[in-house]
Amino acid sequence: MPAIRDDAVVLSRLDYSETSQVIVLLTRDHGKVRAIAKGIRRGTKTRFAAGIDLLDVGKVVLSSRQERTANLAILTEWKQTLSLSGLREKLARIQGAEYVAEITGHLTEDWDPHVELYNAFVSTLVSLSETADPLGPVVAYQLRLLESIGSIPRFDACVLCGRETDLTHFSSLEGGMICRNCEPGQVEKWELTPSTLRVLRAHRGGQPGSTSGSLAGAFGVLNYHITHLMGREPLLAARLLPATQRRIVE
Ligand SMILES: [Zn+2]
Repeated sequence: MPAIRDDAVVLSRLDYSETSQVIVLLTRDHGKVRAIAKGIRRGTKTRFAAGIDLLDVGKVVLSSRQERTANLAILTEWKQTLSLSGLREKLARIQGAEYVAEITGHLTEDWDPHVELYNAFVSTLVSLSETADPLGPVVAYQLRLLESIGSIPRFDACVLCGRETDLTHFSSLEGGMICRNCEPGQVEKWELTPSTLRVLRAHRGGQPGSTSGSLAGAFGVLNYHITHLMGREPLLAARLLPATQRRIVE
């Protein structure tokens, strides 16, 4: 079988048998790939001697009959290339990293490469490993992921009437902001403050200067949108930020 060599990060691991695990990787050039790592749980094979951990970044060699297949690839080699020890120094950092891994695993397709998303994922892990406030890198990544999968909401004007002022609500189904005039007719909506909208726009424009409490509001509205896209709330959202703290009233 042909060998595939790529850079990758581990999104999740699941025990498959007494000795094997299924590992979900986000690779740089091949997108998300599910691979079986045989013998990994025994730890007897030298190539896996160091083990593979959740969120590890490394070089991978996979064996796959063909790329566009529902079958699992076979993980034949793994070498960690980036050590992010700071990630596990604070609980909130690892919770932020596990959250971005979860939403990436659910919202990307197998064998559908997004090089820019892979790069954004790795730099988010690096940022998280040294940050005091994990919500900043997480919010920036939520936006990058939504952009990458073509589901970025519109923050500059009302999606129903085009009005650019008095944007008071967000609608996931409509894909963006709703103004005060259109809001009463909209059943599915999430109320947000002007400062939350400013944080969203600043991050969207690549200038995340504001690190006020509104980051929690920005996380809340993006997580609300991601929940709609996934069909359920990300399991790790509540651990990162309890639902009661996601609506900031000023
Ligand atoms: Zn409107």
